[in-house]
Amino acid sequence: MAKIGINIATGSLQKEEMIVGIDLGTTNSLVAIIHPESRQPVALKEHNSSSLVPSVVHFGDAGIVTVGEQARELLVKEPSNTIFSAKRLMGKSYNDVRNNAHLFSYKIIDDNTDSLVKVQVGDKFYSPVELSSFILKELKERAEHILKTPVTKAVITVPAYFNDAQRQATRDAGKLAGLDVLRIINEPTAASLAYGLGLQKEEEKKIAVYDLGGGTFDVSILQISNGIFEVLSTNGDTYLGGDDFDNIIRQYWMESSGLEKEVFENDKQLLQEFRLAAEAAKKALSKEDNFSVTIREMAFTITKQQFETLAKPLVDKTLHACANALKDAGLTQQDIDTIVMVGGSTRVPLVKESVAAFFGKPVHDEVNPDEVVALGAAVQADILAGNNRDFLLLDITPLSLGIETMGGLMDVLIPRNSKIPIKAARQYTTQKDGQSGIRVSVFQGERDLVKDNRKLAEFNLSGIPGMPAGLPKVEVGFLINADGILVVKAKELRSGVEQSIEVKPQYGLTDEEVEKMLLDSVTHAKEDIATRALVEARTEGEQLLASTEGFIAKHVQMLTPQELQDTAAAMQALQLALTMEDKDLIHKKIEELNEVSRPYAERAMDEAVGSAMKGKKI
Ligand code: AMP
Repeated sequence: MAKIGINIATGSLQKEEMIVGIDLGTTNSLVAIIHPESRQPVALKEHNSSSLVPSVVHFGDAGIVTVGEQARELLVKEPSNTIFSAKRLMGKSYNDVRNNAHLFSYKIIDDNTDSLVKVQVGDKFYSPVELSSFILKELKERAEHILKTPVTKAVITVPAYFNDAQRQATRDAGKLAGLDVLRIINEPTAASLAYGLGLQKEEEKKIAVYDLGGGTFDVSILQISNGIFEVLSTNGDTYLGGDDFDNIIRQYWMESSGLEKEVFENDKQLLQEFRLAAEAAKKALSKEDNFSVTIREMAFTITKQQFETLAKPLVDKTLHACANALKDAGLTQQDIDTIVMVGGSTRVPLVKESVAAFFGKPVHDEVNPDEVVALGAAVQADILAGNNRDFLLLDITPLSLGIETMGGLMDVLIPRNSKIPIKAARQYTTQKDGQSGIRVSVFQGERDLVKDNRKLAEFNLSGIPGMPAGLPKVEVGFLINADGILVVKAKELRSGVEQSIEVKPQYGLTDEEVEKMLLDSVTHAKEDIATRALVEARTEGEQLLASTEGFIAKHVQMLTPQELQDTAAAMQALQLALTMEDKDLIHKKIEELNEVSRPYAERAMDEAVGSAMKGKKI
């Protein structure tokens, strides 16, 4: 039965909208949902067709864009306007992909090497974000066709090693395709969720996710505790996958055919026939012991054993990466509780057996390895839809958290993307003699000035016993517990006075707001650095003025009239500089005032040391 929700604000009925899970893959992509009746994750597919949509975009005449199987079939015939592996270009500059540029049969633009790559098709240019958005749009339309309802919200998966730029690019692609991307989640996390891992509250587990696809290999070591997934390490090879298995069979046959290399170079069609036959052989050998085929009246065979001998070095390479991932996570094979298999190439029996032998336990391969990531994304989507409220949604802080310090500067205690639960503390002190209270203002955001960030809470730590400025030690501690609740504590360590407050930070912002704040921090980065430098210079100047004033009041009898006059002039010049927007000028005036005061400050110091020594026996 479909759920009907009531909007409490308006009292109206609203139909619950389906949130889909999307695996946006290098080779194939697909959509999954939680079936409203069975409550089980299912991959969406049209009758008699595969759930997999090849991640290939073809640009035809008159601007017609085709995505999927039809586009894939044109890869060999129209290589320059049929785009595959756009995922490999997400968030990358030409410099990043330069060494692999020859692997793409289409044109990648390198006119401005530091900006993001673009792909040229005819006289048009496409960013990887746009290319991915074509794939996502196709997936969205297919899903709408199958579900017979609009699909506007999605969870999209990305490799665990994707950096911020790549994650942002994926989000943007979703937006461009008309999708509200509620969350980007890691592929290995999704695969684990599809196996129901991490859905029990008390569960503590270490998981190895082995993902061997068509062209890429990734291994991730994850830890789940209290419903929080943490990526301990990742490793892999971005150019190792099922295609390499196909190539070794193709090579084996091409050599045994007795045909010269030039024949294949001149006959691309023949090469393609070998390629397709080799893939068919590989797939067949996952179930049978031998395979035969005829290509242009030549008979070729291969046994499972022969294939395994050829494939072993490739499989060993993946195991080597697993060993490295374990090492980086500070673990050994015995520490791993569960192994999850992802990607079509894990159907190869040698792969399964080798991985099980390496970890010393059976692997999880019950769920379709092509669909497992999308199915897990659907599980996450369902959690976001509020259908599984026990489960924790947050595993990292989306924005930095900090407090306001002198001059309105943001002092970050917990940087964004920190894993939760997390604790951080820092010591502060008072600015004025006898100051009895400190105001702690908590902010969230990436900008250097708190006024550009979002205020979450504010409280006063009062009752600090009178002490000279700089003497009290106020420790401000932030703790985000597993439920995402931030607790801020302030304690004056000498007197033990303390005060705390609870804030719920993350829930207050929508993903769009978080995005906007991040974007702002990038756009304003330069400006922020300049402002921070100016604020710091002003604070330093103000402090110097105050301390000089204090010094003169105490030691006026030590100064010559000339020194007094010079000091007053330098202080005035500094005072004036503080009202201007020029940090270099402020620094210059600080230096000048220091120059003037240095001689008498040194005399005062000598005298103080002298009187301290008086009467003391050495
Ligand atoms: P993926 O990128 O996860 O979609 O993986 C696709 C890869 O899995 C391709 O290289 C396929 O040839 C390979 N694959 C699919 N089915 C099988 C199978 N039954 N046996 C071996 N490899 C397979």
